[in-house]
Amino acid sequence: MTPSPTVPSSSPPTIPPGVVSDTTYQALLHACRMGGYALPAINVSSSTAANAALAAARANRSDIVIQISAGGARFYAGQALPDKQQAQILGATALARHVHLLARHYGVAVILHTDHANRSLLGWIDGLVEESRLHHERTGQPLFSSHMLDLSTEPVTDNIATAADLIRKLTPLGIGLEIELGMTGGEEDGIGRELHEHGTADSSSLYTSPDDVLRAWETLSPLGALSIAAAFGNVHGVYAPGNVRLRPEILRESQKLVALRCHTGPNPVPLVFHGGSGSEHEAIRRAVRYGVFKFNIDTDTQFAYGQGVARYMTEHEEAFRHQIAPDTGRPLKKQYDIRNWMQAGEDSLTQRLTESFHILGAQGRSLACPA
Ligand SMILES: [Zn+2]
Repeated sequence: MTPSPTVPSSSPPTIPPGVVSDTTYQALLHACRMGGYALPAINVSSSTAANAALAAARANRSDIVIQISAGGARFYAGQALPDKQQAQILGATALARHVHLLARHYGVAVILHTDHANRSLLGWIDGLVEESRLHHERTGQPLFSSHMLDLSTEPVTDNIATAADLIRKLTPLGIGLEIELGMTGGEEDGIGRELHEHGTADSSSLYTSPDDVLRAWETLSPLGALSIAAAFGNVHGVYAPGNVRLRPEILRESQKLVALRCHTGPNPVPLVFHGGSGSEHEAIRRAVRYGVFKFNIDTDTQFAYGQGVARYMTEHEEAFRHQIAPDTGRPLKKQYDIRNWMQAGEDSLTQRLTESFHILGAQGRSLACPA
């Protein structure tokens, strides 16, 4: 059974450390929006990146979102498996089991999520829903806290209709659904189109309309735990200044419209910020004020991991050319040991995530290890 959150009178509820689902997932989303902070959502494709994310959350006493794309999942399973979809399902399942096993020992709550799935990846999601069903039978918990459906390139009517079919399958298992309205620019792991060097993100498809947010919310939120990646000019990847114009006021207007029409309190919709890498801090803070609870970051954290490894290899260059130092005859195994250079990558990633926890106001806010 999913443990229920404990709710003292005024402070946020406490939840057990580990992967959240159902009521603990919803408690976490609620606490973020009411507390005016957001969680970094980091894409991982290896156990070492997942461990770095857990370490960062623990060090910052914050909860975190760990997510995997279909391509990342295939990599997690190993590229040698010939059946692509099977590898995507196996890889995401392997990550999920890894995080389920470890997260509670790190003492933080984790939202385990799958990133962009367009229509061609619905088979991947169906496979994972089946894995969650089996896991739920054994443990009372699904494997994933939430999945993302990205039909932002299709008409809104089709997007919402398919989302309704999917959320009906997810809700009985305690899994939430994230949808995308309007289009995040650029490319994320093969989905979407690369924004060219001289391209501009200032096209109308990059900005969603508050009316579409209302329509999706009215149809889908009664069916389950819905979150919305409402595009407001955000773009995957990092580009030269001037290419991206963020308009967080779209988020504010969407929240106002939903609150008015659905008679709710402020910021009723859990919003998601895609393409967080390289964004201006002020735009990030405004988006969080307007109800963003999840801030996707991939490009910057990949760069950070790579930088850490590159620094280590530069500092220990000799050990990556020779097993024994040619001048002294000293064995160099301790320097080229895989654990050392991966740890350097993990440390650099953890450091980059610490910046994110800070900007998002998440430090010290873990519901699983209250201050
Ligand atoms: Zn994205």
